Amino acid sequence: MVSDMSGVKYQLTEMYRVLRRDNHVCIVVLDAVNYEVFRSLCMRLNLQGLTFVWSLGYDTPTWIRRTFIESPEHIREVFSNVTYISANPWAHKFLPELRHVFKKVITLDTTFWDSELMTVKPESVTLVLKTRVIAGDRKIIAHYLQPHAPFTVVKYGNRIDIRNLKEPSIEYTLASKSFAWRSWFKKVYRLELANVLIHLFRKVIPWLRKHMYKVYVTADHGEDFGSLYPSMLKRKNPKVLLRRIVLERHVGHAFDVPELHLVPWIGLNTEYNEE
Ligand SMILES: [Zn+2]
Repeated sequence: MVSDMSGVKYQLTEMYRVLRRDNHVCIVVLDAVNYEVFRSLCMRLNLQGLTFVWSLGYDTPTWIRRTFIESPEHIREVFSNVTYISANPWAHKFLPELRHVFKKVITLDTTFWDSELMTVKPESVTLVLKTRVIAGDRKIIAHYLQPHAPFTVVKYGNRIDIRNLKEPSIEYTLASKSFAWRSWFKKVYRLELANVLIHLFRKVIPWLRKHMYKVYVTADHGEDFGSLYPSMLKRKNPKVLLRRIVLERHVGHAFDVPELHLVPWIGLNTEYNEE
């Protein structure tokens, strides 16, 4: 998919274009979107106008820094009348810097954290988004935490309660290590993405359009389902300390590879076609 990158637009350029042009605009950012899964769901929903764009980040911190904080000043200036609502805890960590960039920053990880699901539910982001629309904010970036694990669509069950393993994002570790967990991960991930899209199409997009907002959907970065990456392994014997390179499967978004920079961009305006 990434063999020919010529002609791929930057996500930042697209954001700049619509934030400058449209008087009322909402850019919905989903978290960790696998382009192929997104594309197949768009086809199921009969959505037109999907393209992929180049995100500056391969994970949330690099995306926030490079898109908002370290982007060239003449581009960054477009965010100065934008409200950034974010469910991602990284936004909270970058709060002082982001406050210099945006008109308003609202982080939701402290106020709306669901301690059972270990995430911020889409409904919470939507609630704050609608409040800001009613308050008169005309340009909004709303960053949802789905479909990033932990997933909201499954009960993790009695057989193995992965919450008890006390590791954040344990799903990624397990899926990187075993084929069975990888299959589980892909299945549940697709459900999670479908679920958040259904939420957007039922509760968010028609409502925003009724309020005369242009709506765009994109993602902060991609999601890898098990590509092979070289990794350095140390021999157990400390006297030898021989390093050798092995290939390991990776699920998630921990490596700076092109696939993780490719994210969807779709305008959902004239009856869900790109204008
Ligand atoms: Zn992210």
